[in-house]
Amino acid sequence: DAIVHAAHQRGLKVAAHAYTAPAIIDAVEAGVDSIEHGYLVDDAGLRLMKKAGVFLVPTLTIARPPSSVIRRLGEQRALGAVRLRDEAAAFERAYHSGVRIAFGTDSGIYPHGRNADEFLVMVEKGMSTQDAIRSATTVAAELLSLDDAGHLRPGDRADLIAVSGDPLDDISRLQDVEFVMKNGHIAKRDGEVTTAIDYRLEQSY
Ligand SMILES: [Zn+2]
Repeated sequence: DAIVHAAHQRGLKVAAHAYTAPAIIDAVEAGVDSIEHGYLVDDAGLRLMKKAGVFLVPTLTIARPPSSVIRRLGEQRALGAVRLRDEAAAFERAYHSGVRIAFGTDSGIYPHGRNADEFLVMVEKGMSTQDAIRSATTVAAELLSLDDAGHLRPGDRADLIAVSGDPLDDISRLQDVEFVMKNGHIAKRDGEVTTAIDYRLEQSY
């Protein structure tokens, strides 16, 4: 409770990386903003999350790694992850329960730049393509309380990507990003990186 209180006083968010049902309930009761993973969440936990407005960041790719990730991780680590595969069904229950789902990858488990793999698993597990895209845009911005990101409105920061074709028809199109604009600056055009991207969040947010 003290950690959450101190963080919130400083305007920071708190994410709990929690797997088991009791751990998730403890974290929600302590006031965290999001549960990462949540593979073993039960219905009581989902009800509590929904009531408290706690987001689930399901990180399905690391629970159900595609063969490309298994190749990168090595067999032993991948097999450890695969043991959690059935529990990824928690994501389906969470989705249908109305708990808000924000996109996340548990950064570092697989190489940066493969983030869009997560979209494929989300859609494979029953999420609509529109909700999957929202999880990485409007819902993610809402989790982080970014009022000027996650959508395109006058006054918003111009953070955009473009892909060929309509990702609502085929979510895998998000794996091949042709164009990136970050805060109004073009960072990638025609599939080529045009400028070094400043990843330092404190400068842009
Ligand atoms: Zn984690």
